[in-house]
Amino acid sequence: MKAYDVVVIGAGPGGYVAAIRCAQLGLKTACIDAWRTPRGEPALGGTCLNVGCIPSKALLDSSHHYSTLKQLLPQHGITVSDPHIDITAMQARKDGVVERLTSGIATLFRKHKVTWLAGKGGLAGEQRVAVTQPGDNASEVIAAKDIIIATGSVPLELPAMPVDHTFIVDSSGALAFQSVPPRLGIIGAGVIGLELGSVWNRLGSEVVLLEALEQFLPAVDRQVAQEAHKSLKGQGLDIRLDARVTSARANHGEVTVEYVHQNEAHSINVDKLIVAVGRSAFTQGLNLETVGLELDDRGRIIVDDGCRTNVPGIHAIGDVVRGPMLAHKASEEGIAVAERIAGQAGHVDYGIIPWVIYTHPEIAWVGKTQAEVESAGRPYRTGSFRLSGLGRAHAAGETQGLVKIIADARTDTIEGVHIFGAHASELIAEAVTAMAFHASAEDLARIVHAHPTLAEAIHEAALDVDERALHR
Ligand code: FAD
Ligand code: NAD
Repeated sequence: MKAYDVVVIGAGPGGYVAAIRCAQLGLKTACIDAWRTPRGEPALGGTCLNVGCIPSKALLDSSHHYSTLKQLLPQHGITVSDPHIDITAMQARKDGVVERLTSGIATLFRKHKVTWLAGKGGLAGEQRVAVTQPGDNASEVIAAKDIIIATGSVPLELPAMPVDHTFIVDSSGALAFQSVPPRLGIIGAGVIGLELGSVWNRLGSEVVLLEALEQFLPAVDRQVAQEAHKSLKGQGLDIRLDARVTSARANHGEVTVEYVHQNEAHSINVDKLIVAVGRSAFTQGLNLETVGLELDDRGRIIVDDGCRTNVPGIHAIGDVVRGPMLAHKASEEGIAVAERIAGQAGHVDYGIIPWVIYTHPEIAWVGKTQAEVESAGRPYRTGSFRLSGLGRAHAAGETQGLVKIIADARTDTIEGVHIFGAHASELIAEAVTAMAFHASAEDLARIVHAHPTLAEAIHEAALDVDERALHR
């Protein structure tokens, strides 16, 4: 029987990063992954690289260039007659990006001497994992001193709106449309609904998002959420709140979607429907019962702060456990677990995990919202600065949005930073770094920021916490 120090099940951003870090620390490591491309070939990278973060951002970037050509460039005096988008070419580019990055992980595995086992992994008793090839009944059992489960998540399916992969699709289907659906319905105005809705709206779809909640993006700071809501509606996204979808059916080449708004039944007809109502932890086929591994009421593997399960030697990370379903959260947990297995003090600071929603402008935040700080009952101060106060924003034609900083009123420690604006995904890194070092708003206010840059909005918002912003 082949024996390893560590066997990782799942090669998404949680699993593959954990495997590389284990190997870096001198542990003999294997990583099992069941992913197959549409051509039936094994691929590393999990949801994130194959049907998540990377392909969605490739399409967001392509569609953003197209809309820039039409909306922004004329302001710069640049006009192009009859701009055209070739969806087949756009999709081929996206597929190329995915292929480049997933095969890059195979190279990294070779470099770090991680053994890649393409197949399905299941627990086979204490310190044993069975690896099964697709179509094979027989499996190979391997031994591992430690096991890391990183099997991720899958789209949540609702029986009343069954995905048929043609008219009613999940996020993976929506990343693979081969033409622009004239009328596109989306169930759920969450992260996926807004990102994929933006892609197809920019390319010409009439997009209706049906969202059960009354509040738009409840996890986001209210001021930022309201500004984003207004901006996205202005771009043509028809976001209907308090609209709970009760059923969806494909019939005669279109989809009829029934929903309830203020206790009244409504329906719309669309050409394609994306179901984006959340994701659920994936543990199917892991045979958790063979070792007595415990799940919570949402089907997630129960772990402590250090990603230890109830079974010694079995760890679980990423989307399959509690916490935000984010690639960077999965990766950091992978690193921390690998370091703990190697006897080091791996640690994840869950209080400062950044979130980004890649609409345009982007929405990004870290730490607490104003409402959270308020409900904790601690005195606080806020400072904000609009991008329209910045020279660089005017030069670029990107004046929409703001930066808002929330700081403790007694210690001035930064509690949260919220950004709505172009390049918010990049700008938020400064806030995360500051918070990781327990910086005060005054610390940020005294750091030199290059001029002219969008980052000056962070500087000005920090100054504004002390009511001394210079350009407002
Ligand atoms: P996954 O990436 O889901 O990987 C799990 C892997 O385990 C898969 O390859 C699966 O095949 C494999 N597996 C499962 N069971 C077994 C088994 N028994 N044996 C062998 N292999 C198995 N997050 C961000 O941070 N930023 C973004 O911009 C972003 N965009 C997204 C866009 C979309 C459309 C979607 C759907 C998600 C997006 N996410 C984003 C979320 C992100 O993809 C996940 O949080 C991340 O992939 C979780 O990583 P993971 O390693 O836990 O699991
Ligand atoms: P989500 O939880 O963000 O949004 C789902 C939405 O669907 C919710 O607002 C919910 O109220 C709504 N909903 C549920 N049932 C409904 C019904 N019957 N009718 C109308 N609305 C309904 O989930 P998601 O958008 O599917 O994304 C899943 C996860 O993937 C995210 O939470 C995130 O962790 C991850 N993700 C992250 C990024 C990123 O980091 N940029 C991008 C995409 C996905």
